[in-house]
Amino acid sequence: MNILVINAGSSSLKYQLINVDNKKVLAKGLCERIGIEGSQLKHTPGDKEPIVIVSPMKTHNEAIKLVIDALIDKEHGVISDMGEIGAVGHRVVHGGEHFKQSVIIDDEVIKAIEDCKDLAPLHNPPNLIGINACKQAMPNIPHVAVFDTAFHQTMPKEAFMYALPYEYYEKYKIRKYGFHGTSHKYVAERAAQMLGKPLDELKLITLHLGNGSSISAINKGKSIDTTMGFTPLAGVPMGTRSGDIDPAIVLFLMEKENLSIEDINIVLNKKSGVFGVSGVSSDFRDLEAASKDGNDRAALAENIFIYNVRKYIGTYSAILGGVDAIIFTAGIGENNAYMRKSLVNDLQFLGIKIDLEKNEIRGKEIDISADDATVRTLVIPTNEELMIAKETLELVSKA
Ligand code: AMP
Repeated sequence: MNILVINAGSSSLKYQLINVDNKKVLAKGLCERIGIEGSQLKHTPGDKEPIVIVSPMKTHNEAIKLVIDALIDKEHGVISDMGEIGAVGHRVVHGGEHFKQSVIIDDEVIKAIEDCKDLAPLHNPPNLIGINACKQAMPNIPHVAVFDTAFHQTMPKEAFMYALPYEYYEKYKIRKYGFHGTSHKYVAERAAQMLGKPLDELKLITLHLGNGSSISAINKGKSIDTTMGFTPLAGVPMGTRSGDIDPAIVLFLMEKENLSIEDINIVLNKKSGVFGVSGVSSDFRDLEAASKDGNDRAALAENIFIYNVRKYIGTYSAILGGVDAIIFTAGIGENNAYMRKSLVNDLQFLGIKIDLEKNEIRGKEIDISADDATVRTLVIPTNEELMIAKETLELVSKA
């Protein structure tokens, strides 16, 4: 079966058409500047060169029509008609407490996603616009919602509750939700396959380290804690996000710098993290180059990141009561050998030790553990689209 995976943003729509039988990506692409002048579709059929179609897209409905036209086009299409699309899997950022797993979308589900919009005001509304546009364009096939938060719904209450007045949990559902769930789940499942052990016998720490970073403690296939929180701002420092800080700093800064809610939001989300500390870049490649050139603040930014990620490896080892494997994924986790080496340096006491030669290998699933390590260290490229396609297939097959 071919499954169309959709990730809709406010002015963009990303897609992949995946043949779930052989896991092959038939085509992928991105509509940009939807509703803005200069909209275009970049469409990549299979292994061929991408083509760019410049065409006005006033709405997501127009964008999805262009995507379908591109997929069935005689020249650069990959299927002969829409009937070859069996189902659509939609990435939805926030499922609140309502969604503990992926679901087939019906009117009730749409209403529940709408109800979560206060929790993810920048993401859920555009995700819904994408769902509605796709449902209109492809009304006769199942549509499935796969939530970034769902995997973490297994966290125990003591892990997801904040020590705030309880009424705010009841009134506003303020609690830790966690994000990147699809990625953490995907790499955990792959890790079990690589280790040749059932997932429900494993204690894993998954490190999704990219521009946005989160770490999860996974016991027997279930997330028991994760670093992101009520929003994706919490946890380790990121490209431009602060990660955990003393909440009183927010009040202090708002007063001293006369910042509005919008201003402080920008400071914490866009001007902080390794970018804010270094003043150089949010990209770890630039930080590495700058720190090699003697830029102290770039080196400091890297070190703050390393310190905090290591802290969570220790914390989660304790919470899990031991660990069988740690897994690196996402942009930094998959590609940055220097970071991986620094993150596990001197963790032999936990049983974590890597083979420095294997650590240099890139772009594939690999066990980089040293021969005498008792905890495996794995590098697993994440594949959220494939995971969305697999979850969609699972639900559609059961229906
Ligand atoms: P992501 O958000 O997962 O795309 O990750 C972005 C981060 O991954 C950036 O800080 C990059 O430095 C890093 N990254 C992505 N690709 C590479 C690469 N090929 N080599 C080294 N670092 C990379």
